[in-house]
Amino acid sequence: METVYFDNNATTKVAEEVLEEFKPLFCELYGNPSSMHTFGGQIGRKIRQARERVAGLLACDPTEIIFTSGGTESDNAATKGTLAAAPGRRKVITTRVEHPAVLTACRDLENHGYTVVELTVDKKGQLDLVELEEHLDDDTALVTIMFANNETGVVFPIEKIAELVTGKGVVFHTDAVQAVGKIPLDLAKSNIDLLSLSGHKLHGPKGVGVLYVRKGTRLAPFILGGHQEAGRRAGTENVPGIVGLGKACELAAESLEDENSKVKYLRDKLENALLQKCPGSRLNGDKDNRLPNTSNISFEYVEGEAILLMLDKYGICASSGSACTSGSLEPSHVLRAMGVPFTAAHGSIRFSLSRYNTEAEIDYTIEKMPPIIKKLRQLSPFVST
Ligand code: PLP
Repeated sequence: METVYFDNNATTKVAEEVLEEFKPLFCELYGNPSSMHTFGGQIGRKIRQARERVAGLLACDPTEIIFTSGGTESDNAATKGTLAAAPGRRKVITTRVEHPAVLTACRDLENHGYTVVELTVDKKGQLDLVELEEHLDDDTALVTIMFANNETGVVFPIEKIAELVTGKGVVFHTDAVQAVGKIPLDLAKSNIDLLSLSGHKLHGPKGVGVLYVRKGTRLAPFILGGHQEAGRRAGTENVPGIVGLGKACELAAESLEDENSKVKYLRDKLENALLQKCPGSRLNGDKDNRLPNTSNISFEYVEGEAILLMLDKYGICASSGSACTSGSLEPSHVLRAMGVPFTAAHGSIRFSLSRYNTEAEIDYTIEKMPPIIKKLRQLSPFVST
């Protein structure tokens, strides 16, 4: 078996169709969209088409789309841009389980005199909306809460949260990097003011993303310079990235249903078999309110890194936390916030699937995984055999 890739929340394979659209933009259609000549003008049209494709997936107006360098920039631009536009307000509300792109940016605000509230989550990884409501006041400039968690796949009731927050006159941003392309989104029917997405999480290129800014939302530009993106994000456009992202969004819109059925079927088959065949295993997260592609399972008294190394020998790629935190032996901040015991948090593995996974890959992993856990348990100093 060649590489079996179950690490799609870290990054995804670029779709062939995306690559086909992407290629000519390097050596044939390489003009600058800001140029006056016809050669540059045709690139401007490509960007317009990409903007329309992204807007089509999100059900919003193309003018509400700002292209960025990825999820991290979109998150930072949303946070810092909102605060710069509301200098009288000094409070930000977020959650303990955000991706570092939001959490680190928010914690840094404390060094600049802001009050940052990090909402807690319960055992399933869900928020208490009463706690959120209690913290909303006239000093709150922004609430930033992720749509779906990158480690557990837990989906927050974002529409309800957006309604609650904007109803109090506070700007609401959601990091939807893991949600876009996996679950349906309809911004036309929602109160979300700002939303981040990233190309490489939905079979598009790396280094490109989007910040959706609802018409009328006050946001100061994060990067200053030229007039690109209507003066809202300066810098010559990453044209191949933008065009690739546009195509990836078009494909996602077409295959969402597939993602929800085929991917969920494969994920559930893998998850049920592992929970059944591996004693001392438990699911982390909210089983019923989750992305269809993500399964986070703890194997108690076993090191997640050791599991990953043994899976790697069989060509199976998974993750023991988010890609950004791997390399550190600290247990995941998400699992800790959910109160997952240390011995289980250390042995957690995230499987994240995509539309390219097959049933043969699932069967192969179901065969390889239980003996790995058994062997590592026998070596564990915490288990008497
Ligand atoms: N937000 C979430 C929820 C993510 O999972 C990631 C990437 O892992 C990011 C933000 C950062 O996105 P990017 O890699 O495009 O900067």
